[in-house]
Amino acid sequence: MRSGSCGGLKTITSPRRLQVAATAGVRQWNGQPFPISVDERGNRESHFEVRWRRSLGGRQIGVARTQWSPEEGLQVLMLELAAQSPFGTGTLEPRQVRLIAAHEMGHALGILMHSDNSRDVMYPTNTATSLSAQNYKTMGALYALEDGTTILR
Ligand SMILES: [Zn+2]
Repeated sequence: MRSGSCGGLKTITSPRRLQVAATAGVRQWNGQPFPISVDERGNRESHFEVRWRRSLGGRQIGVARTQWSPEEGLQVLMLELAAQSPFGTGTLEPRQVRLIAAHEMGHALGILMHSDNSRDVMYPTNTATSLSAQNYKTMGALYALEDGTTILR
């Protein structure tokens, strides 16, 4: 995800608040369609980790690292989230981090394309305010497909 916002004052958000916000963003997909559990302490076996980066380069503020192979299908390697605003305005705000995490988790769950609706969390820049019914419908439709289904566009 790229940042489309530009603040004035420098923000300083504690790492703990950023972590809480990222966890909340990932959990927004909980039950849509299956349960998602987040281990904030990193003690349990996990499918993938969330890593913080000071910067992801340019206006990039989040990325879902995935790989795809015909044998394994889509594999999520990690989510990377920027802690700092790309505009030099300090740390990102928790509200932004929650949406970035939700966006990248959407990719991790298999929504590889971006939405063309700027209020949608899967829009390429951080203009949404929350996950929409359309987000959940997209995910539901994706998981209603049989394994191995090819989508042509
Ligand atoms: Zn994206």
